[in-house]
Amino acid sequence: MSQQNVGALEVERIRDQFPILEREVNGQRVVYLDNAATTQTPDAVVDAMSDYYRNYNSNVHRGIHHLSQEASIAYEDAHDRVAEFINADGREEVVFTKNTTEAENLVAYSWGLNELGPGDRIVLTEMEHHASLVTWQQIGKRTGADVEYVRVTDEGRLDMDHARELITDDTAMVSAVHVSNTLGTVNPVSELVEIAHDHDALAFIDGAQAVPNRPVDVKAIDADFYAFSGHKMAGPTGIGVLYGKEHLLEEMEPYLYGGDMITKVTFEDATWNELPWKFEAGTPQIAEAVGLRAAVDWLEEIGMDRIRAHEEELARYAYEQLAAEGDVEIYGPEPGPDRGGLVSFNLEGVHAHDLASIMNDHAVAIRAGDHCTQPLHDKLGVAASARASFYVYNTEAEIDALVEAIDDARQLFS
Ligand code: PMP
Repeated sequence: MSQQNVGALEVERIRDQFPILEREVNGQRVVYLDNAATTQTPDAVVDAMSDYYRNYNSNVHRGIHHLSQEASIAYEDAHDRVAEFINADGREEVVFTKNTTEAENLVAYSWGLNELGPGDRIVLTEMEHHASLVTWQQIGKRTGADVEYVRVTDEGRLDMDHARELITDDTAMVSAVHVSNTLGTVNPVSELVEIAHDHDALAFIDGAQAVPNRPVDVKAIDADFYAFSGHKMAGPTGIGVLYGKEHLLEEMEPYLYGGDMITKVTFEDATWNELPWKFEAGTPQIAEAVGLRAAVDWLEEIGMDRIRAHEEELARYAYEQLAAEGDVEIYGPEPGPDRGGLVSFNLEGVHAHDLASIMNDHAVAIRAGDHCTQPLHDKLGVAASARASFYVYNTEAEIDALVEAIDDARQLFS
C-alpha cells in the first residue's frame, strides 16, 4: 500500500491543497469518504472565488463600467472552458444551472411539458437518482406520457435487452444515469443513446457522478442533453451545468423568465436572448462560475484519466477489503472498468445509520440512507445502505480506517 503515489498520483501533494483534510473530528484526523455527495474544494478554487469577490465583484452583462466588464468576461469564459472540458461545440451549448437537479427540471419543464402527451413514453432506468426519476415521473403524470424503467440485473448492471424492448418508436425521451451513485455502475450510455436515436427519441444523460472522475466527451456519447454539478467535481456549490445540443436548446422555450434572458420587451410581449443566456434568467452564479472554471483547470492539470485510474484502484481495494469481511453485503458490479469510485454496502445486523454514526466516532465520514434512490433500494430489499465514495485525494490507508470502524461496529453490536 502506498500513500504517496497511488495510481501514479502524488496524493500527498494533492492533499496539501485541501486544508479541510487536516481537520480533526472526535480527536482524530477526518477521513472524508462522502465524495459522491460533495467533494472538497482545493485552494485554487477557493482562491479564484476570493479573488473575484476581492477584486472584480460586479454584475454581468449589463455594465458599461470596468468591473462589470471583467466579471462578464470571466463569466462567459467559464462557459467556454466548460464547453471545452466536455467537448461541446461552444458556450451556446453550456447553460449554467443551480445543480444537476435543476438541469433535469429545466429540460423536463421546457421540453417535456411542451412536447409530451398521452401515447408517448419516457424510458428511465431502475438506478436513476430521484433528480431524474421524480422529475420525469411527475412530467409523465402531467402530460399523460407513460414512464417505464430499464431493469437492473442482479449484478447491478442495466439489462440492455430490456432497454431494447422498452425503447420503441413511442419513446420520446430516454433519461439515464451515466455512473450510478448507489451501485457505482458505469452504464453503456453511448449504446443507450444510439438505441434512443434509432427510434427518434432524445437522450438525457445524468453525469453527476461521471464528469468529476472520468473524461467525458458529450459528442462521443452523442447525448442530446447531459448534466452535472460543480460541487461534486472540486468546484463550488450553487452551480451545475446543462449541456444541450444547440438546435434543441434553440427550439426550446425558456424555463425561467425575467431579466437578462430577453432581447426586447414591450408591454405586450418579449423576445429571447441568444444561447445560453436565454436559459439563465436573473443575476447568475458569477463567483461560482469563476470557481467552476478554476476546478476544471485544476482537474485537467492532474488529468482525468489519472483521476479515473486512482478512483478505480481505490474502489477495487475497498471492494476487496469489504468482501473479505464475510458479513458485509456489497451492492453493484465487481471491480472493473464498469465500476466507478464508490462502494455501497450493509453490515449484517447493523442499520446503515448506526454504522455511519460509529464511523463518525472514528472520524470516518460516509453517507448512510437511500442516496436518493429509494426505488432501487426497494428492489435491493433494503431500506438503506452505507456508501463510501472516493476522490482524487483519498488513500488506501483511509479505506483501512473504514474497515477498522466496521470491525468496531461489529463488536459493539454483537
Ligand atoms: N444524479 C446523481 C447520479 C447524483 O449522484 C446526484 C447527487 N447525489 C444528483 C443527480 C443530484 O445532484 P445535485 O444534488 O447536485 O442536483
